[in-house]
Amino acid sequence: MNQSKASILLIYTGGTIGMKEDPVEKALRPFDFDQILSEVPELGKFALKIDSYTFDPLIDSSDVEPGMWTALARLIEKEHDNYDGFVILHGTDTMAYSASALSFMLEDLDKCVVFTGSQLPISTLRTDGKENLVSAVEIASAKDGYGRARVPEVCVFFGSLLLRGNRTTKADSSSFTAFRSPNCPPLAEAGIKINYNDAIIRRPSPGGRFRIRTELDTAVSVLKIHPGITPSLAEYFLCSPKTRASVIETYGSGNAISKAWFTDIVRKADKMGKVLLNVTQCMGGSVDMDLYATGKALKQAGVVSGYDITTECALAKLFYLLGKYPDSAQVKFFLDENLRGEITK
Ligand code: ASP
Repeated sequence: MNQSKASILLIYTGGTIGMKEDPVEKALRPFDFDQILSEVPELGKFALKIDSYTFDPLIDSSDVEPGMWTALARLIEKEHDNYDGFVILHGTDTMAYSASALSFMLEDLDKCVVFTGSQLPISTLRTDGKENLVSAVEIASAKDGYGRARVPEVCVFFGSLLLRGNRTTKADSSSFTAFRSPNCPPLAEAGIKINYNDAIIRRPSPGGRFRIRTELDTAVSVLKIHPGITPSLAEYFLCSPKTRASVIETYGSGNAISKAWFTDIVRKADKMGKVLLNVTQCMGGSVDMDLYATGKALKQAGVVSGYDITTECALAKLFYLLGKYPDSAQVKFFLDENLRGEITK
């Protein structure tokens, strides 16, 4: 048996967890990683080797771009054999997007990758950052009875819950339980003990070997259906020559405007070869385009169901599939597949 210490790579990208008030501007700005570590001496008590990697520049996650996901995937690939798990410190604003994207880009993942951050900077007295960071490190290093990663998935740890990353959405801008995963139970809950929900934790496919996929095609628009939407606006979003796909955020179980002008635009986009994905605006529940006539019209016009996928994950899945497959039919085929636990079918 390997008696050497388990090891974790802490990757610091920025976000509130590591911010301090700039005395001149009176606004929060990132500070360096050593200061974070000095705020959490508890990390030294783990029987773990903890190394760190700091992104340059550190960013507010509102500035995240797909290039950062590629950099994260490459870093994890490079360090894959050197560490038992990875903890990514990231701002909360786009954490759900980044976790969704990485869940696709890290194929046949066999180690735990946990995104975490905080609502209050780690240097403040009532910070939630310490508890989030310490629990994330413990979870990322946890092994099962076979010595394998206990949770070989891309996850978000926040406010005592470990959530499947591609199911998360930031639902609260001030509560310490900022993230929800309405259509998927937590993978673990940290109380006195960390209780793992082993029945739903996914494992890499049998015989699958970890690899990364960094080709993303971001030619995707998001159209939120709302009362008062005009034909020119809908056409701009769905038929632009600059896009290959659109996420259509619909009402309820996948319903949109039943007027002929809207269905005509959807048909036109479909004929242009666009991939049109139906995602509900509701937090919980799923798209079912067979329930109402308005949903049926969308289905007949070529729109595909997003089931209970979040908008954050829909974008990430489309970036990944469009980057992988040149053909719309292939993209539509894999949109309908549950690739990383991101939809309930
Ligand atoms: N604006 C910050 C960020 O996303 C918010 C946070 O980290 O909570 O980087």
